[in-house]
Amino acid sequence: MTATARAPVLIVGAGPTGLAAALFLAHRGVAVRIIDTQREPSTTSKALMVNPRTLEILHDSGVAARIMTEGMRVAGIRMHRGDRLVATIDALELLPGQPLIALSQARTEALLTEALQQRGVMVERETSLQALQQDTDRVVMTLHHADGREETATAALVLGADGARSTVRQQLGLAFEGTTLPENWQLWDVALRTALDPHCAHMVLLARGFIFMLALESGVWRVVSNADDPLAQLPGGGEVGRVAWQSTFRIGHRLASRACVGRVALGGDAAHIHSPLGARGMNLGIEDAWVFAQCAADALDGSLQRMREYALLREPVHHQVVKKIAAITRLFRGQPAALASIRNIVAPQLVQLPAVQRLMATTISGMDHPLRVHP
Ligand SMILES: Cc1cc2nc3c(=O)[nH]c(=O)nc-3n(C[C@H](O)[C@H](O)[C@H](O)COP(=O)(O)OP(=O)(O)OC[C@H]3O[C@@H](n4cnc5c(N)ncnc54)[C@H](O)[C@@H]3O)c2cc1C
Repeated sequence: MTATARAPVLIVGAGPTGLAAALFLAHRGVAVRIIDTQREPSTTSKALMVNPRTLEILHDSGVAARIMTEGMRVAGIRMHRGDRLVATIDALELLPGQPLIALSQARTEALLTEALQQRGVMVERETSLQALQQDTDRVVMTLHHADGREETATAALVLGADGARSTVRQQLGLAFEGTTLPENWQLWDVALRTALDPHCAHMVLLARGFIFMLALESGVWRVVSNADDPLAQLPGGGEVGRVAWQSTFRIGHRLASRACVGRVALGGDAAHIHSPLGARGMNLGIEDAWVFAQCAADALDGSLQRMREYALLREPVHHQVVKKIAAITRLFRGQPAALASIRNIVAPQLVQLPAVQRLMATTISGMDHPLRVHP
């Protein structure tokens, strides 16, 4: 039996949440096992923005420095109404010393994986959690391997970081309540010749709907929208070229009914989902990972109460962030059209107010609540 197979903590899911949790535990000297269903890491990139809170907690691992070297600093947000620039938010001024970094989620995951490998932890791929039960002493799991083998694994503690459709959450019998917006959202990574400032994110208010734009690399932009034919409605026109990736998704706002049951905790999308506006999903998952690692390492030293504290610490944060992002999304999505015409007058004025600018800055930076590891 290998050292990792005897690890006291098993993490289900090697997305950003699971990778970060494994890294933080390894940093505290805790042996950890991390599994993922997929044969290869994901190459498509959902999250693009790494926020200052994430950089703070990844500082000691050296990953923050690499993210800042590879990524691009985002200088601010420009709001357009159709073709007209109607408001500007200066992130450099509002968030001094707190960089917002644009980097693809795939690269962030790759940097976390590398740091984990340097600490001797390898992701066990093509390994799926199928079932889980716990008693007072341990968690017993059924894992399915690619060669058809079934393994009975045990661990003292488990983190379900297995995404929005979490098997761990289902096995715990927890509800995932909330709502889903009715419309489809589309996403493109597309070559674009445009005069828009590539160092800023762009929000475009349309007669019906909304567009978000951010430059990924020279000449390639991420465009996300709930409007009809948004590529034909980009501000300043521009020349649309090759599409590198296209995807359609729905936006839900949901919370797991509990963040921890006994020896099994949930983190990241397994515990909470919300719209990408505000760029919080991946960042909040990495923050969950940090708090989980501190609580789990202490729990292994004898105080299982620390797992209950994980839930006490994270549930109010999840609730507050999901509620706020849902409200911001309702304001900006610009559907139905009758609401869009009011939004198009009100939103540019609102975002000029210093208090609203501060609110937006603390939301995007992830600094809208203290980072606590003790209740
Ligand atoms: C369009 C879009 C844009 C976004 N932009 C941002 C942004 O700018 N900033 C931001 O912070 N967030 C953003 N997000 C959200 C972000 O992508 C997610 O919040 C993030 O991926 C969640 O990470 P996770 O590790 O919790 O889950 P996931 O990334 O979903 O990873 C879960 C992992 O678990 C594995 N798994 C699942 N089931 C099992 C099982 N039974 N056994 C073993 N493994 C399993 C999966 O293979 C997967 O690798 C965006 C999302 C979208 C859709």
